[in-house]
Amino acid sequence: MGIFDKFKSFTKQINTIENHLYSGKKDFLEIYERNAQLEQEIEDRTNELNEVNRRMLTLQHIWDMMNSSKPLSTILDSTVNNLQDELGYMYSCILQKKNDENGEHYALMASSKDNFIEIINGYLEKPLDTQRLNPEHSEIIRAVLRSKEILQSSDLRSGLNSIAPDLKEDQVEEILSETDCRSFMIVPLTKMNHAGVLIVLSNRDIVTDAEKDFLKMFAQQIELAMTIADLFQVVREQAVTDPLTTLYNRRYFEEEIEKEFSRANRQKQPFSVIGIDLDHLKQINDKFGHVYGDLAIKQIATVLKQNARSIDIPARIGGEEFNVLLPGIDSKGAMIAAERIRKAIAATPIETVGTITASLGVATFLEHANNIEELMELADQAMYHSKRNGRNQVTLATPISEVSWQEVALNAFNDILETERVNVSNEVKRDLTKKLSLAIEQNTNPKDTLYTVADTLASTYNPQHTLGSSKSKVVMATTLARRFELEKDDADKLRVAMLLYDVGNLMLPHELLQKKDPLTDEERAYIQNHPSIAANELLSNIPEVKDIIPIIEKHHENWDGSGYPNKLAGNDIPLSSQIILIIDAYFALTEPRIYRKALTPYEALDIIKKDANKKWNSTLVNEFVKLIEIELRKAN
Ligand code: GH3
Ligand code: MG
Repeated sequence: MGIFDKFKSFTKQINTIENHLYSGKKDFLEIYERNAQLEQEIEDRTNELNEVNRRMLTLQHIWDMMNSSKPLSTILDSTVNNLQDELGYMYSCILQKKNDENGEHYALMASSKDNFIEIINGYLEKPLDTQRLNPEHSEIIRAVLRSKEILQSSDLRSGLNSIAPDLKEDQVEEILSETDCRSFMIVPLTKMNHAGVLIVLSNRDIVTDAEKDFLKMFAQQIELAMTIADLFQVVREQAVTDPLTTLYNRRYFEEEIEKEFSRANRQKQPFSVIGIDLDHLKQINDKFGHVYGDLAIKQIATVLKQNARSIDIPARIGGEEFNVLLPGIDSKGAMIAAERIRKAIAATPIETVGTITASLGVATFLEHANNIEELMELADQAMYHSKRNGRNQVTLATPISEVSWQEVALNAFNDILETERVNVSNEVKRDLTKKLSLAIEQNTNPKDTLYTVADTLASTYNPQHTLGSSKSKVVMATTLARRFELEKDDADKLRVAMLLYDVGNLMLPHELLQKKDPLTDEERAYIQNHPSIAANELLSNIPEVKDIIPIIEKHHENWDGSGYPNKLAGNDIPLSSQIILIIDAYFALTEPRIYRKALTPYEALDIIKKDANKKWNSTLVNEFVKLIEIELRKAN
């Protein structure tokens, strides 16, 4: 091959190589380009995913908040702050339509914490979140609520005006020059009791459909949170208010008095309770019908609401009974308040019925009692005193005596157990004496000890004695004392007597009390007479209970004079003795005896009814039957 041929073939080879190189380069460029595209795509997708993720997280966060027990304001605040942080809005807020005594307005429910609001507040007299926005001033908001569509606009001036109409034109300009805000959006919130809007300010001009969709979803979450909060509010209100009068109900009153008691007890400050009972409601019902009775009840509620300070708690406790709790008020202030209420009730006649009146009682913590139970009882006693004294008046409670009835009874039991002749084992004596001295020393809640001691002692002479019945008997006696309007002093004596009326049995021989064979006449006479003689013997040495001996002595006298020991009749028998007789009979009948089974409550009531006007006064029978029937209904 000549040199020329060699050169030619070399050139050809180079061309081939060049061709290869070229096509390789082309491939390389194509691949490079494709990679770049892919990378871009991946980046875009990643961004999109991140965006979606962020939105999901925001929604998730709101959802978590809604499921927590945080108050609505916290949830909404966190919601707008989320919008802020996660999606780069400059400012966001929620306005809701409200309608109260001052008419319709928009209230700022939540506002994101940032520079922007600080700047606006700097120009306003009152911070934005305390302002009430008149709907008249906010045509754009009204338009959004009408159309139910998101509005996006770059007209920042009208945007600012719609949330802060007080801003002057030059102030708006200054605010806008301080921020790089470019547009705003108003999102309607309409699926709630009271419509509202979500407003967001953005530093972007353009809004994509995706962003709008997201805001719509976001709005739904806010609506859901607000609806749930509204529902909670309704449920809470229903749970604490009485439907007829919309006053607070008994439950709420009891909760509030507990709170006030802890506060007042800590700070050693007074608070007062006014008890109010409508006079002659029965007559109103009978004469004009229940509707007018209801009207009278509502009228009292109106007066109570009108006369209450914002921290007072006026409540309907039962049918025609009301209480007002006056935090921090002493008896002087409470008497003035009660007198004002009394006058207002008597001064406002009701259609058809005419003038109505009420009887009131006032009791003050620390002045009259130092626990809720006694305080309420004293307010009640004072109210009944007003009734007995002619109605349409206010009575101030009298402080409870230095020694409470519980203390009297505790000391009496203590003394009784020290008596040699009491037929109780030493072990039981020791145990009970220990319990009693502990209760006397601590004086916190002596009642439980009292009932335990009474039950234990009763069980020693009566193995069929039902544990817990001592308490039930005292509770029943208290209720009857109230029904018959016993003065506090007499009610206290009755309660002590209710615990002690049978202590004489402690001195009788067990064999006689538990004898299975029929008693001889002699034995019967002994058993009938001895308990009161023995009780007298046991109690006459205890000065505090001297007054109750006559009640105990007469608790087996019958209304028609057929009882024992003195065959007293009618009103010669103290009412308290009759109350003990009927309660004792009911419990005896419903307990088993050696010679018979226990009767059902209804069978026992039938027997008691048969003896009306014989063993007991028929009014007492009626009240007693009512009382037991209420108990039985409650139990079922
Ligand atoms: P007093 O002056 O002694 O309080 O007499 P009174 O008639 O108001 O009291 P009493 O306790 O003898 O009767 C209360 C009556 O109130 C009996 C009951 O039927 C009626 N009552 C209770 N709750 C309501 C209610 O919600 N509406 C109406 N219309 N009457 C009620
Ligand atoms: Mg009444």
